[in-house]
Amino acid sequence: MSLSALVLFALYLSAAAEGQNALNDIIFSGDFEFIDLTHPFDNETVYWPNTRNFVFTRKTEELGQGGSSWYAANEFAAGEHGGTHIDAPYHFYREGLHVGELPLDKLIVPLIIVDVSGLVNDDPNFVLQKHHLDYMLNAGNRCVLIFKFGWSKYFHDKKKYLGVTESDELNFPGLGEEIATWITTAYKNVVGVGVDVASVDPGCSKDFPVHKVLSSSGLYNIENVNLSMDVPSYGCTALVLPMKIRQGTGAPLRFVAICPKKLN
Ligand SMILES: [Zn+2]
Repeated sequence: MSLSALVLFALYLSAAAEGQNALNDIIFSGDFEFIDLTHPFDNETVYWPNTRNFVFTRKTEELGQGGSSWYAANEFAAGEHGGTHIDAPYHFYREGLHVGELPLDKLIVPLIIVDVSGLVNDDPNFVLQKHHLDYMLNAGNRCVLIFKFGWSKYFHDKKKYLGVTESDELNFPGLGEEIATWITTAYKNVVGVGVDVASVDPGCSKDFPVHKVLSSSGLYNIENVNLSMDVPSYGCTALVLPMKIRQGTGAPLRFVAICPKKLN
């Protein structure tokens, strides 16, 4: 390597280091917190009916001679659509992207939470319509929009959470088709829509219009978001990181928010 090339390389390294430190200095300044919006996966995790539940199997736990070593490994199997998970557009739109094709610039985006739990008031028949939200959000940067129905508190009780009726119908709140159409036409900056219930369509839906409208516009859904803790409505960054199942219609998701700490 020539001297000038060495100098250039050194300059490149120092510039890269400065850039890196600038971002890390912000994220790790102590002014931000990381909030996990994911329900844990275990044998109790809520899955969509007729989907293979999460099955966790202990396979090996071995303590070496005299306790000198340890080895453990397990297996799991599951359907795509259970627990905190993503729906890829392909789930309801044949030309849509699979999970493994979703680009990172749609998965690491500003997070907006629309808290409608006061309107829902624990009513499993509630369907959110446009007239409930005359303010929603400004069309601006790319973002993922999460609607909070106040349902995470029931996640531990599968029957209550899904609202399973005597005839095995489901009954929990959701979005109306009108809202989905509004988002996809008026808010082109929204790349994904999430809910703290088992589906973006209400539990009683049979034809899933919200899924269809959102997926045919290229949006992904996040279902079973864990909103059992306080999360700021604005100002957080969402990390929407599903298992990268190449041909997946959906996948388990680790959903995290990086949020400014609340000023006391
Ligand atoms: Zn799903």
